[in-house]
Amino acid sequence: MRPSPVSKRGIVTDIQRASLHDGPGIRTTIFLKGCPLQCLWCHNPEAIAPRPQLFFAEERCVACGSCEAVCPNGVHHVGPSDHAIEFGQCATCSRCVDECNARGLRIVGKEMDADAIMAEVLADVEFYRNSGGGMTLSGGEPLYQQAFALELLNRAKQMNIHTCVETSGFVAAKKFEAVLPAVDLLLFDYKATKDEDHRSFTGVSNELILANLDTAYQRGNDILLRCPIVPGLNDTAEHFAGIRALDEKYPRIRGIELMPYHDFGNSKRPSIGIAEASSQLRVPTATEPGQWIEALNGLGCQKVRIG
Ligand code: SF4
Ligand code: SF4
Repeated sequence: MRPSPVSKRGIVTDIQRASLHDGPGIRTTIFLKGCPLQCLWCHNPEAIAPRPQLFFAEERCVACGSCEAVCPNGVHHVGPSDHAIEFGQCATCSRCVDECNARGLRIVGKEMDADAIMAEVLADVEFYRNSGGGMTLSGGEPLYQQAFALELLNRAKQMNIHTCVETSGFVAAKKFEAVLPAVDLLLFDYKATKDEDHRSFTGVSNELILANLDTAYQRGNDILLRCPIVPGLNDTAEHFAGIRALDEKYPRIRGIELMPYHDFGNSKRPSIGIAEASSQLRVPTATEPGQWIEALNGLGCQKVRIG
């Protein structure tokens, strides 16, 4: 088999050091830009588009008009009570960003090379060793830039750094398989049991996702299932039965984390010029996550917890 191609440059939205929520121990999480899904509840909407894009923080804007004056593409229209932005016309040249003293504008996503990223990852190697942590690739869907993700994972493994990948599993089978040897722990999403629901919540079928999950399991990868739960959408008996079915089918899975919906992503949507989140979405009450755990325990699912 020919080795899978790697890429030494990729588009990154953020690098978070000392992260405690993206796998075991203290980690450095690299957020890669681009995702083929459109989850209704997405909390990182600025990571969906694969290219860098303009981000407008309206609350900082003092309506000085400097951005409008400098933009070569006529993107900004600044009035006394309104700042309209034609996001589709933006060429991400950064001129308005540099001109805005109020720091109301920025470009999300920048091209970085693997050397620069690994230098940041290596800076915290002592923390990884002492805490059982390492490097996590997140997104977006980190395997959307599969060749770059593979380069980062291979480099981490060469340096004996533990690797996690947070994935929707919606990746071409060959590309998915190619990264598995370099992944110590897969944080694998399971969003809906019925294919029809999966399509309606995310825009894609779960067929490829389930096939990739099966491949990873059969190849012996360590897997933590992550299940985003949105009240009224997928907190159903049918979906919980589906989670339990995977738990039974794949007994070696490390655990199941339920991820209660939060609405932090909603406020970012107007900042990048995309439609408001669906009105179907509701943040769970304080007691609902406990009830979900009870329901799954009642089905015989014991290794479930709130993530
Ligand atoms: S330059 Fe900044 S503060 Fe001035 S109008 Fe543009 S976004 Fe607002
Ligand atoms: S980044 Fe460049 S093209 Fe985009 S709005 Fe700012 S000045 Fe205009």
